[in-house]
Amino acid sequence: MRRDPRYDILFEPVKIGPVTSRNRFYQVPHCNGLGHVYPRAEARQRGIKAEGGWGVVSTQEVEIHPSSEWSPYIEGRLWDAGDMKRLRLMVDAVHEHGALAAIEITHNGHASGNRYSRLPAMGVSGIMVDGYEPSQAYAMTRRDIAKVREWHRQAALRARDIGFDIVYVYAAHDLALPFHFLSRRHNQRTDEYGGSLENRVRLLRELVQDSKAAVGDRCGIALRFTVHEMAGEDRITAQDEGREVVQMLAELPDLWDVNVSDWSYDSASARFSEEGFQEPYTAFVKQVTNKPVVGVGRFTSPETMVSQIERGVLDLIGAARPSIADPFLPAKIERGRADDIRECIGCNICASGDMTVRPIRCTQNPTVGEEYRRDWHPQKIAAATSDAALLMVGGGAAGLEAAMSLGQRGYRVTVAEAAAQFGGRVWRESNLPGLSSWRRVLDYRLAQLQKLPNVQSFTHSELEAEQILQFANELQAAHIVLATGAKWTRDGVGRSHHKPLPHDDSVRLLTPDDIMRAPTSTPKSVADAKPAADGALAMRGEVMIYDDDHYYMASVIAEKLVAGGAQVTLVTPAAEVAVWTRNTLEQEHIENRLRELGVTIIERHKIHQVRAKQVTLQHVSGKQTCALTPAAVVMVTARRPCESLYWALHAQQSQWATAGVQSVSRIGDCLAPGTIAAAVYEGHRFAREFDGAVEVDAVPFKREYVEV
Ligand code: ADP
Ligand code: SF4
Repeated sequence: MRRDPRYDILFEPVKIGPVTSRNRFYQVPHCNGLGHVYPRAEARQRGIKAEGGWGVVSTQEVEIHPSSEWSPYIEGRLWDAGDMKRLRLMVDAVHEHGALAAIEITHNGHASGNRYSRLPAMGVSGIMVDGYEPSQAYAMTRRDIAKVREWHRQAALRARDIGFDIVYVYAAHDLALPFHFLSRRHNQRTDEYGGSLENRVRLLRELVQDSKAAVGDRCGIALRFTVHEMAGEDRITAQDEGREVVQMLAELPDLWDVNVSDWSYDSASARFSEEGFQEPYTAFVKQVTNKPVVGVGRFTSPETMVSQIERGVLDLIGAARPSIADPFLPAKIERGRADDIRECIGCNICASGDMTVRPIRCTQNPTVGEEYRRDWHPQKIAAATSDAALLMVGGGAAGLEAAMSLGQRGYRVTVAEAAAQFGGRVWRESNLPGLSSWRRVLDYRLAQLQKLPNVQSFTHSELEAEQILQFANELQAAHIVLATGAKWTRDGVGRSHHKPLPHDDSVRLLTPDDIMRAPTSTPKSVADAKPAADGALAMRGEVMIYDDDHYYMASVIAEKLVAGGAQVTLVTPAAEVAVWTRNTLEQEHIENRLRELGVTIIERHKIHQVRAKQVTLQHVSGKQTCALTPAAVVMVTARRPCESLYWALHAQQSQWATAGVQSVSRIGDCLAPGTIAAAVYEGHRFAREFDGAVEVDAVPFKREYVEV
C-alpha cells in the first residue's frame, strides 16, 4: 500500500553535519541490557530497527574509560581498541539496512560507582557518588579534565574507525560529566571551570569542539542536552540556564538532541505524561539554533509527528520506547499501514530491564531482547508445520497474543472468552486511573485478529471441562490451551504471609478484582469462590489498602478510592510504597501523587490479625504493634491461577481420544501469575514453539560466550 501523502514530510531526508538521515525517524540512545555483554544480541536488535525504517539508530550510553563504568548495569563499552570489534557488529547490522549508526560516548563522573574497575570516582567537585554508594568522588584537577577530554577524543576516533556516522557528546539526565560541570548543584569549583555559566559550560564546549576537530569531517556531532530539569535544587530550566546554554552553543554541534531530566521525567510513564509531553520545555530550541533538533515524547501517532515538524517544534522524531514497542513503526507508516503500529503503552517495563540488570523486555513487543538468542523477528514468524487446530480458552493478554501469533503462522484457532469483552486483566485494569493506554495491548491484538480468517473468537463463552471437550471435538481442535488468568486472593497470603491471616469477618476484606468490578461473568474456575463483593462499599468511609504486591496495583486502587470519596491508608511491609516501581521509574511520582491525594502511608508494617473490627499491624521487626479501624481492607497480595479447568481436563484424560484431543496446555497467569508483559511473552512463546520438535534438556536459546 502507498503511504498517506499527509505523512510525506516524515520521509524527507535531514542533513546532520557531513551525513544525511534518509528520513525524520530517529531512534535516540536507549539502554537495552545487552550492550558489551551480549554484542550479537545488541547488533541484531539495532539492525532490526534499521530494517524497520528508522533513519538513525543509536547505541545506549557507551563508557569511554574504566574510571566511569556502570557495572553491574550493562551498557556499551569503548575503553580501548579491543572493544571495537563488538561495536562493529552493531554498525554493520544498522548499515545493512541503510540507516545511520550513532554512538553515545560518555564519561559519567560521580554518577557511576566503578564497582568493577574499583577506580576512585572523579567528579566536578568532591561530592558523593550516586545511588547510596558508600563512596565519594574526588574533585577533578585540570590534569584530570585534560585526561577526560583526551579519552573522549580517542573514543570519538575509534567510533569513526568502527564506522559510526554520528558521535554524541552527552550532557543529559544529570548523569554525564559535562552536565555536572554545568550544574550549580554539583559544580563548586573556583577555577575557570566553575562560577559563571560561561565557565561552567566550558567542558561541554570543549568536548564538542574536540569531537568536531577529531571526526567532524566524517561524522555528525550530536549534543544530547537536558534543557529543563523538572526537580532538584538549583535546577536548570528552559527559562534560564537551559536556554542560555543552547544560545551559547547554538551552531556548534551538528544536531541538538534535547530532553527533560531526570530519566524518570524524560521517560515518564503514561500514568504521568501524555504523548508530546516535552514540547513545552523543548520547543524553544529550534528558535535559537539553525541546526536540526531531535526530541522525544513517546510519539506513536503519525499525525502528532507531522504536527511537531510542521509547527517547527522538531526536525526529527526521536523515539526510544515507541521504537522498542514497534521497531517497524516507520516502515508501517511508509507502507500505508499506520493502523498496524503496535503502540507503546507507556508502562516502562522496558526500563525495568536496565534497572534490574536483565535484557530488555516490553509489554507490547514480546520479541524484543529475543531477536538474536531465539531468532525472533517482530514481523516474521514461521509458517505452520501442520494443519492442526487449537481451542484457546480465555481471551486476555496471553490468549490473544497466542491466538494472533498462531493465526499468523496459519493455524486454525478458536478463542472462547467468558466475559462480555476480550482483554481479561488488561481490560479491567485499563479502567483504573492513569492506565487507559494499557488498552492498546488489547486493541492491537483484536485489530490483527480481524485480519485472520483462520481465527474465530467469541465472548460470553464461559466453558467448563465437558464443554471444552465437546467443543474441541466439534471444531476438530486437537490442542486445548488454557489462558484463563488469575484472581487476587482475599486471605492475605503473599510475600509476608505464607498462611491465611487470622480473621474473624468483622472487617470486610476486598480484593482488587472487587474494586475493578470483575467482568459480568465470573469464571467458575476462580479459586476464590466468594461472590463478588460490593466494590461500592469501599468507596466510602475509611479504607485500608494492604500492599504486599509492591508494584502499581495498590497505588492505582488508592487513587480510585480517593476519587470515590474514601479516606485511604496504604500499609506496606516494604520500606517505601510501590517499591518495585523504582524499576519503572515511577516510585517517587507515585508516592508524591498519593501524598498529594491525602493518602496516609504506613511503611514497614504487616498485618498481624483482623479481629473485633480492628486491623492490628506489626512492625516488620516484630516489635511494636498498632491498630486501625477501617470499614474495609483491600488485600493487594498474591494472585491464584485460575487452573481448575486444567486439572479437571486432566482428570478426564481417558476421554481425550474420543474427543480427538491430543494436548491440554496452560499459559500466562493461569500457569504463573506475573506482569502483563510476561503473559504476552508466554502467549507468544507458545505460538512460536507450537508443533516444534521439543528437545528435552536443550537450552532453549543461543548463548553468547566470552572467548576463552
Ligand atoms: P492472562 O494475563 O494470562 O492473559 P487474564 O486474566 O488477563 O490472564 O485473562 C484471562 C481471561 O480468561 C479472562 O478474560 C477470563 O474472563 C477468561 N476466562 C477465565 N476462565 C474462563 C473459562 N472457563 N472460559 C472462558 N474464558 C475464561
Ligand atoms: Fe512502551 Fe511498555 Fe514496551 Fe516500554 S515496555 S516500550 S513503555 S510498551
